[in-house]
Amino acid sequence: MPVYHCTNCHFTFKREGKVDSCPDCGKPDVRPATEAEIEEFQRYVAESWDDK
Ligand SMILES: [Zn+2]
Repeated sequence: MPVYHCTNCHFTFKREGKVDSCPDCGKPDVRPATEAEIEEFQRYVAESWDDK
């Protein structure tokens, strides 16, 4: 699943298909995430899982 990044609120998220707006702030400032952002996102997801 592709990873996207919102340049408005710096929210990174996974989404299948076309993305028109950020699910967090609703702005259309969304672009495909860079490799560094994807890495950070995966680390964040892994940490969230550890908390449960
Ligand atoms: Zn946003």
